[in-house]
Amino acid sequence: MNSTTAPTEGPYAAALAQFDQAADQIDLDPNLREVLRCPKRELTVNFPVEMDDGSITCFTGYRVQHNVTRGPAKGGIRYHPSADLDEVRALAMWMTWKCAVMNLPYGGAKGGVTVDPRTLSRHELENLTRRYATEIIPLMGPDSDIPAPDMGTNMQVMAWIMDTYSMHVGYSVPAVVTGKPVAIGGSEGRERATSRGLLVATQAMLERLGRPVSGTVAIQGAGNVGLNALQLFSEAGFTVVAISDSSGGVYDSTGLAAPRVYKHVSDGGWLADYCEAEHISNAELLALDVDVLAPAAIEGQIHSGNAAKVRANLIVEGANGPVTPEADALLNDRGVVVVPDILANAGGVTVSYYEWVQGMQHFFWSRDEINRLLADHMGRAAQEVWNLAQDRGVNLREAAYQIAVGRVAEATQLRGIYP
Ligand code: GLU
Repeated sequence: MNSTTAPTEGPYAAALAQFDQAADQIDLDPNLREVLRCPKRELTVNFPVEMDDGSITCFTGYRVQHNVTRGPAKGGIRYHPSADLDEVRALAMWMTWKCAVMNLPYGGAKGGVTVDPRTLSRHELENLTRRYATEIIPLMGPDSDIPAPDMGTNMQVMAWIMDTYSMHVGYSVPAVVTGKPVAIGGSEGRERATSRGLLVATQAMLERLGRPVSGTVAIQGAGNVGLNALQLFSEAGFTVVAISDSSGGVYDSTGLAAPRVYKHVSDGGWLADYCEAEHISNAELLALDVDVLAPAAIEGQIHSGNAAKVRANLIVEGANGPVTPEADALLNDRGVVVVPDILANAGGVTVSYYEWVQGMQHFFWSRDEINRLLADHMGRAAQEVWNLAQDRGVNLREAAYQIAVGRVAEATQLRGIYP
């Protein structure tokens, strides 16, 4: 029996519903369904951190490995006030399907710490990171579980995790994390890889839909994915008219000045304080009449309550799980095309894979080479998803899930159940 109680709402309920739909559609053997539905390992850690004023605060963190049938567990670590076990379970499951749809030799995992990293000093952030990394060392390793950045974490956090792990084993192990700085074995092109993959997936789908590979774009979220998407989509000839963060959004019908917005946000500014464009709310951004809407913030942003207001006819999921299954059905009925997260935002983990391969072989590739490999890889995966959707008369999410779940099911069947 599956020991995890099934939630009725939230990201994990959404992830399970998406999986169940795919399992039904491919007529998955009930025994395989039981295995694939279940997270393999879940670790919850409560750990103390000494704060700058000398006080001790206890934090809670998680690492969940959903499935490792196709290879080591892979997935990011999120620092966010709303991170909890169910969210991390959902994100870990999505990583399994994401790696499978991209045909990467990985299983899926995710980690999280319930914390708002913006409330910590740099020293506190380092203390928290090193202690959390130490707590999850039983799971981590270049052949077993390889973390990467996600919301609230970045290259510096990965450098601390790499160092903490290396100090514990007594020698440097760059391949234990990806998304680390190039100076310590990171990959060229990794930082912008999720956004670059999002652009390639968008271009590929617009082309196949017979629509112009240009037009207006609205981006929800100004983290690593949203902010780099603003730049890359603008450079590629799209008109990015809006972007938002948790303080609100900015809008310019003639296109935002990408370098200026980028600088404002990377200097630590909120978009609510950006003076060179009109201000809009996140709700207004999602309802803009644009050609492409890229939700690149957090889960559940487009739901049954606002799906009818969405006017874009192509949604590309930069975030994980930004459209709930209920909203997905409503959008599908209206003919809105959704490029699913497990394909659209898979550029990040794809270049993480290149980074891991480079680390394992101690031989590094140029940025041009990485970007070319990523474009080919994403183009191929998008083509497979598109073709299956056409052949089976299903939407792109259903096609991506059928491919992914089918691959993990095949691997499980071939390996068999131990003992
Ligand atoms: N956190 C990213 C994601 O959700 C990247 C994961 C990775 O590179 O392992 O896909």
